Amino acid sequence: MSAAPASGDMVAELARSFAGEILHPGDPGYEQARQVHNGLVDKRPALIARCRGLADIADAVRLARAQGLEVAIRGGGHNVAGRATVDDGLMIDLSSMKGIFVDAKARTARAQGGATWNDFNRETQLHGLATTGGVVSSTGIAGLTLGGGLGWLMGKHALALDNLLSAEVVLADGTVVTASEDENPDLFWALRGGGGNFGVVANFEYRLHAVGPMITGGIVAYPFAAAWDVLRHYRDVTASLPDELTVFGGLVHAMDGSGEKLAVMVLCHCGTLAEGEQAVEPIKRFGTPALDAIGPMPYSQLNAMLDGGYPRGALNYWKSSFLSRLSDDAIRTMIDCFGRCPTPMGQLLIEHFHGAVTRVGVTDTAFPHRAEGYNMLVLSEWTEPGRNDACIAWARESFAALQPFMGGGRYVNYFDGDEQGDAVAAAYGPNYRRLQAIKAKYDPENVFHMNQNIRPAA
Ligand SMILES: Cc1cc2nc3c(=O)[nH]c(=O)nc-3n(C[C@H](O)[C@H](O)[C@H](O)COP(=O)(O)OP(=O)(O)OC[C@H]3O[C@@H](n4cnc5c(N)ncnc54)[C@H](O)[C@@H]3O)c2cc1C
Repeated sequence: MSAAPASGDMVAELARSFAGEILHPGDPGYEQARQVHNGLVDKRPALIARCRGLADIADAVRLARAQGLEVAIRGGGHNVAGRATVDDGLMIDLSSMKGIFVDAKARTARAQGGATWNDFNRETQLHGLATTGGVVSSTGIAGLTLGGGLGWLMGKHALALDNLLSAEVVLADGTVVTASEDENPDLFWALRGGGGNFGVVANFEYRLHAVGPMITGGIVAYPFAAAWDVLRHYRDVTASLPDELTVFGGLVHAMDGSGEKLAVMVLCHCGTLAEGEQAVEPIKRFGTPALDAIGPMPYSQLNAMLDGGYPRGALNYWKSSFLSRLSDDAIRTMIDCFGRCPTPMGQLLIEHFHGAVTRVGVTDTAFPHRAEGYNMLVLSEWTEPGRNDACIAWARESFAALQPFMGGGRYVNYFDGDEQGDAVAAAYGPNYRRLQAIKAKYDPENVFHMNQNIRPAA
């Protein structure tokens, strides 16, 4: 598709009925609206359509088609690869669409596509309810759910996408459909893992669960010198956990800006406080922590606890893969790589999969990663643009060094901008061909390709 400048007549026509805002370069608010979470992404859309509802989205999609503009969809804007925006195209920006409607009796919530997990938890926790969401509360519900949705509740309640009951979607021709087990079930299957490939999801309906408001959670941190023992202990602890307890491990820097390197375990137990206290005891008992901040806390607080480590506008470059296993050699290599980390915001994170998330079949949803084990995230983050080369090189070199310990699976939501083509097919593994067939049915011209793109079947 060519990136022709938007014709003034058509935009003026659209503006007459558009409930939201249409921003051109130079308009007040344009500079702020074009920015996404990752400060490395610096794109300038020809138009930004800040939608207010379904009709705005449908009109924006039709305008893009009529004008041959490339389309990007912005939910929370957190995608590290910067897929929420596009040079010279149309950004369909849902960030003003944050309505959340909880049915406490039915234990469901409808949420608009621009909500973040902070917005979502505020409303659902009023009723002591929640569903699995991201571990950083400023992340959008939309991109996170459509690509997977790993989070603190996944041991007990599986992924965010496993809790999706229905979605209201604007398709590439501007029509609106519902996807659920009963309506357009092929589309519903594909949306649960296939990302933004199939249309713009205006509304998400989730299943909710009783969670908190008080849970047991927090972080325990040890000096970097103890990393070998801490990560081996992490492996032992995660070998048998109750579903209620999800524990991530890793090597990080202190958030106080001192640059101090730490080995950490971060966790959430979503059962009763008494069960939680008992379940975290083997973790709290271990070694001599520099900080033990595990205890009862509100679930919403846990969900925002890590936010400070991921400020909007910081520069990010990520690489990730599931590990075949967390061997001693893998731990040794992690420690070695982290010792060379050039940025005081860099991290090597291990996300543990067990329980409910692993009891869903590989082909039940488009998201295929259902084995018990660990996802490894090499997270390079920094603030000075002069350090770009060194910080990107560290992530690439660390990822290469850890390659011998990687399994086949990779999580598309952590892909950076340089993963394309075959990497996407490989990430979907046994589900890719079915995704291609559904893409050919709902978006044969690949209008929605600013994503981890699934090529329509020929
Ligand atoms: C600090 C940080 C923490 C994170 N933590 C987690 C975590 O705990 N668990 C986890 O699983 N992931 C996590 N992620 C990764 C996250 O899942 C992805 O970045 C995801 O893409 C974010 O969704 P978003 O709506 O904010 O992104 P956006 O950048 O707005 O969109 C991402 C992609 O989704 C598509 N999209 C967005 N909205 C819609 C929509 N309404 N309809 C159709 N397509 C849409 C876009 O086309 C784009 O390709 C984290 C990312 C960051 C930066």
